[in-house]
Amino acid sequence: MKKNENYKQETPLKARCSVCDEKFEGIVQCREHIIENHRAGFDVSGENEHEYRSALTFGDLEWVDENVWVLMREPDFGARWRLLFRSYHLVFPFNLRVKPLGGGRRHTVYVAQCSPLAGDWRHVYVGSTSKELERRYVQHADPESNPIRGTISRGTYLTKNLYSPDPLKGVRWDLQFLIHDHEEQWSFPSREAALDVEAWLHNELESIGYVVGGDKGKQIAIA
Ligand SMILES: [Zn+2]
Repeated sequence: MKKNENYKQETPLKARCSVCDEKFEGIVQCREHIIENHRAGFDVSGENEHEYRSALTFGDLEWVDENVWVLMREPDFGARWRLLFRSYHLVFPFNLRVKPLGGGRRHTVYVAQCSPLAGDWRHVYVGSTSKELERRYVQHADPESNPIRGTISRGTYLTKNLYSPDPLKGVRWDLQFLIHDHEEQWSFPSREAALDVEAWLHNELESIGYVVGGDKGKQIAIA
């Protein structure tokens, strides 16, 4: 997978929290640390972790990213710390995003909440789609009433572990922030790129203790 190796060169060597200076293996881990440990200024009135995270605004999530440093390889310096939010154009997977041209297919990656496991909300589904997220979500929720091209799709891991039939309640913006585009201003340029991002996000979330459903970006033929 030569293409994957190229992508990896754009993955930070390390990430660092600018609030407390702790270092992490990657941006997903660093974001998670900031959301869990630096809650001042966030709405913490929710009764459980899911309510707290659902109440995070895009402004909150921007603040999280403003406090993430990334150590990037650079030919002239060897490696250099940069602020993530000023370096999206360099950092995988944000650097793959493109403005869609004309009527081309849109490819996106998303994270959905699954039913908590023994009270733990770190149970999610990671998928990618060329459809609008809400339409894909509703298909997951009820494959029989929402056939794909007239064909009833198989139930997925998300179907079996659905937290809410309502996509507004079921998606995890804190985990898909700027990876999924809520305003449809951009997309990933190909199905292949979206599948790579899906596999990456799946692995990153597993590495920080999430139970993740999905097929890690393997191609599934839909008849
Ligand atoms: Zn910190």
